[in-house]
Amino acid sequence: MTTLRLILGDQLHQDISSLKGCDKENDIIFMCEVWEEATYVQHHKKKIAFLFSAMRHFSRELKEAGFQVRYTQLDDEDNAGSFKGEIERVVKERGIKNIIVTEAGEYRVLQDMQSWGEAFGVDVDIRANDHFLCTHEDFKNWAEDRNELRMEYFYREMRKKYNILLTDEGKPVGGEWNYDSENRKTPKGALDIPDTYHAQTDDITSDVLKLVGAKFKDHFGDLEPFHFAVTRDQALYALDKFVSERLNNFGDYQDAMVQGEPWMYHSHLSFYINCGLLTPMECIEKAQAAYYDKTAPLNAVEGFIRQILGWREYIRGIYWMKMPGYEAENFLDATRKLPSFYWDANTQMNCLKQCVSETKENAYAHHIQRLMVLGNFALIAGLSPEEVNEWFLIVYADAYEWVEMPNVTGMILYADGGVLASKPYASSGAYINKMSDYCKGCKYKVTKKNGPEACPFNYLYWDFIDRNEDKLKGNHRMRMMYSTLKRMGDEKLDAVRADTKRFFNAIDKGDVV
Ligand SMILES: Cc1cc2nc3c(=O)[nH]c(=O)nc-3n(C[C@H](O)[C@H](O)[C@H](O)COP(=O)(O)OP(=O)(O)OC[C@H]3O[C@@H](n4cnc5c(N)ncnc54)[C@H](O)[C@@H]3O)c2cc1C
Ligand code: SF4
Repeated sequence: MTTLRLILGDQLHQDISSLKGCDKENDIIFMCEVWEEATYVQHHKKKIAFLFSAMRHFSRELKEAGFQVRYTQLDDEDNAGSFKGEIERVVKERGIKNIIVTEAGEYRVLQDMQSWGEAFGVDVDIRANDHFLCTHEDFKNWAEDRNELRMEYFYREMRKKYNILLTDEGKPVGGEWNYDSENRKTPKGALDIPDTYHAQTDDITSDVLKLVGAKFKDHFGDLEPFHFAVTRDQALYALDKFVSERLNNFGDYQDAMVQGEPWMYHSHLSFYINCGLLTPMECIEKAQAAYYDKTAPLNAVEGFIRQILGWREYIRGIYWMKMPGYEAENFLDATRKLPSFYWDANTQMNCLKQCVSETKENAYAHHIQRLMVLGNFALIAGLSPEEVNEWFLIVYADAYEWVEMPNVTGMILYADGGVLASKPYASSGAYINKMSDYCKGCKYKVTKKNGPEACPFNYLYWDFIDRNEDKLKGNHRMRMMYSTLKRMGDEKLDAVRADTKRFFNAIDKGDVV
């Protein structure tokens, strides 16, 4: 009996659960590029090219390894356009009675999968994705009966579970669980930042670039230059390059932003981990080995491992715990439309101009740009969670709903009312000025609090605090902000409100702000 084994575009690893026990003689491995997935939001052109090229390379590797692979390209004449349509076609053609698939990363696709059995009259075996390090069950058990779901405690459990950076006595290496306080160096003077990994374009990638250039002209972002890794070997090389060249400084400059340096000392591995080319555990183990080999310091290694073993798994746990319904959360009742400069970078606020331009060019921005510039503005300007979620899902090559949504709804917008963050990540221009060199090239003055020359982050911040007093003043971590607001006096508060009104009026009129 022939079994159909479906591989999705974010499951590109030969060790994936849907391939376990595969009968190479009889089973069909099925992969398809479908219009519905490529356009359900208008993904960045680079993101589509990356995934199609990685999928085509992976299907070639499977064939070379002796699997029977059937692959539908986007421009194949009889492409049905959706997963469901494509699977139905193969099931009918080949008289399939069994489908095996690894669970989808996104709620929407998992629901679709759960309907296939009845729709096609076949058995569908949906297997857990064991590339993640915390199962749904384990996250639920951890979260149950806790008042607060803080990442830090989850992360400690994960360190213990996998015996990462622990002494023989089970204590954290170096004595502390977390070295974040050492990871906030401000970027002073010239930094010697190695270039990120650049893969050569081969025939497969060339064909994909032509296809995406022709079919997705209206989508956001620059298609070229294109230099992402698209095979497992290339992704492993990118990982080694990160560990040997950048990990050393990863911790120190984790929160720093420098104009003209989009990649900083970050790893640029999220694209590869999220689509299966790399496993999270191999990234963790290589970083841990660098610490024991004394080629990278503890603050860098612990910081990097925390992002993957802690944040990434925790974010996924929150997504599945809160879905469905998380997509509709809007605790602060934020309704403002996304300003056009999120698409064209046409703004005089230099920090936003740089971060949007780099996003457009690279389909990448590092965490602190996403959090403290793009996200912070969205929060303090009261942008609609629906619009902000859609933007973040479109523009980054590593974006999938399971990881994008908790970062946006929970981390940057506080739209879940504090499930993920203990207080809103709101800040004025002073933080951006401390952690970047953006302000010196800006038309606005970061030191000015009010008036047309003042940095908009400064008055928007206080307007945000004022506007949301009813919802936030009960939060003990916001107590200091509300005491300062009380001491501000009517005159200053009126100036904040007037500046905010002027700023929003200008955006609404279509002026460049
Ligand atoms: C508003 C917002 C939206 C985001 N959207 C995404 C997204 O769509 N996809 C995505 O993978 N990450 C997202 N992140 C998390 C983080 O910004 C990216 O994972 C990171 O910038 C990727 O670059 P890097 O590989 O160089 O990461 P590094 O800084 O080198 O970190 C190492 C790895 O840790 C993991 N990681 C770090 N922080 C997080 C986090 N908060 N959540 C999940 N994983 C994390 C990633 O796998 C990353 O590759 C978002 C963060 C914010 C604030
Ligand atoms: S002055 Fe304000 S708007 Fe300009 S770069 Fe600095 S933080 Fe951004």
